[in-house]
Amino acid sequence: MDSPNSGDSVAGGGRRGDEFAVIERLRARFEAAAAAGSAAGGSPPPGDLWIGDDAAVVTLATSGPAVLATDLVVEGVHVDLGLCALDDVGYKALMVSLSDLAAMGARPLYGLVSIAAPVGTDLDLLGAGVAEAAEEAGCVVVGGDLSGSPVLAVSTTVLGSLGAGPGGTALLRSGAGPGDRLFVTGALGGSAAGLRQLREGRPYDPSPLGLPHRYRRPVARIVEGELARASGATAAIDISDGLGADVRHLAEASGVGVALDRVPVVAGATPEEALAGGEDYELIIATGEPDRLVEAFEAAGMRPLVDLGHCTERPGECTLGGRPLAPGGWRHAF
Ligand SMILES: [Mg+2]
Repeated sequence: MDSPNSGDSVAGGGRRGDEFAVIERLRARFEAAAAAGSAAGGSPPPGDLWIGDDAAVVTLATSGPAVLATDLVVEGVHVDLGLCALDDVGYKALMVSLSDLAAMGARPLYGLVSIAAPVGTDLDLLGAGVAEAAEEAGCVVVGGDLSGSPVLAVSTTVLGSLGAGPGGTALLRSGAGPGDRLFVTGALGGSAAGLRQLREGRPYDPSPLGLPHRYRRPVARIVEGELARASGATAAIDISDGLGADVRHLAEASGVGVALDRVPVVAGATPEEALAGGEDYELIIATGEPDRLVEAFEAAGMRPLVDLGHCTERPGECTLGGRPLAPGGWRHAF
């Protein structure tokens, strides 16, 4: 948020005072979130610097590798503002980047948030959603940028640490071997079903179990990713495109095939939504030590893992219940 020289003011030409005021309010909001949710507390430690200069300065407490991810949420492409409130957009924009850290088994530390928005956009509401996600994840937002734009676009970048796990090695898509069991951290299809319900005009149910809530407020499975990495998992991926597509990504990267026995479906969703809907942000986890993984989740009091099936030695072959799994999932066309 050092940003006044890097684009048109959000508030329109010549109204930079508004932009600075917005930045100041966002800074206060993000610091409050850091005070509530992060180990760093509500202000930078000596020598570090968050929002307010040309760049942020952070000191990493652990010596292991840093893990970085970025994501982009664009109005009309990823989000329909007729179906989502602006705080949901902010929340989701940060959570989807955090989900990529979760899939690597990394613990989030810091985030950057850049917002391009039309005149009149309630940036305080959007920032409130970002702050909620940051607080829940223990991630401190230390900077970003603001710009005017004909449509809303929110870009988030996050930095995480592998300090707590064995050997400081990230959990990759490519580590699964034949015979590894495949698990998923929760039932699927809730996001797609929630989007369907919103399009049907159903009232928004903000409870965590409400399906529209799962679409508007997906949760990155950060603890689950760290647990998986610490418990000998061989590979993982988060479900953004859909189980069918993302398990294929894992299989291709690992050079294995996949034999799925079942697809866990959220109550109220269809099997198709669970398989191809996407945006559930649960983790698919492969492991050669399934008992160790399941017991680690039990011991940590996590939701039980769902056994999906196993990896095979036939690369490129993906089956569900013994039948070929149709290619699917979301892919951008350029
Ligand atoms: Mg991902």
